[in-house]
Amino acid sequence: MVTVQFLGSGDAFGSGGRFQPCISVRSDPHHWLLDCGASSLIALRRFGLDPISVDTVTLSHLHGDHFAGIPFLVLDAQFRRRERPLTIVGPPGVTERVHQLMEVTFPGSSRTERRFDLRFIELAERTTTTLGEFAVSAYEVPHPSGAPAYAFRLAVDGKLLAYSGDAAWTEALVEVADGADLFICEAYVFDKLVPHHLSYATIRQHRARMACGRLILTHMGPEMLARRDEAEDECAEDGLTLTL
Ligand SMILES: [Zn+2]
Ligand SMILES: [Zn+2]
Repeated sequence: MVTVQFLGSGDAFGSGGRFQPCISVRSDPHHWLLDCGASSLIALRRFGLDPISVDTVTLSHLHGDHFAGIPFLVLDAQFRRRERPLTIVGPPGVTERVHQLMEVTFPGSSRTERRFDLRFIELAERTTTTLGEFAVSAYEVPHPSGAPAYAFRLAVDGKLLAYSGDAAWTEALVEVADGADLFICEAYVFDKLVPHHLSYATIRQHRARMACGRLILTHMGPEMLARRDEAEDECAEDGLTLTL
């Protein structure tokens, strides 16, 4: 059984009082996070999940609302004497960007000796990387962030979870969604035109071609939140938990 829990279903700016992007995926005893926005350590605690239980954090792209929670997660683990390795998976450049982020936020923290290994895996596009029970495939999507931005297909326990990350529309999302039991898709705006992000109107336009089971909208900004009752697809809430 795979448990998916939205710890952060908001945008970068705390719209609606929501936490920044962070989705917990658990298949006992393994625990992955999809994205780790700046507020994610607080969100883990808010929903009663021990941050130490996280094995792997998979980062869709290197914007603060998706990866700036890493220094807090690492320092918390260090102060609580974590011993199991923590793996950070992300696009090419993730190792250097996380080290830079740690040095800016907590100088010296990237070089501190720890009881646990902090491991990095830089994902190549359209290859599958297997980590324990999980197999992740990355698809590049248009979203400028100083490194390639990825959408993911995550296979675990016979289930397929797809995640758009942040993305302007691309046909790659049709491939990412294909056959997924659950497709978590950003909908930053309802029908406004905003560069580098998806609107719900665009998702509807292509919805019939996205051959996924359940589709849940996330990363909602103020306009999308205000109009979410008009959406025919399900909208995430912080804390929403479902099983696959
Ligand atoms: Zn972004
Ligand atoms: Zn974002």
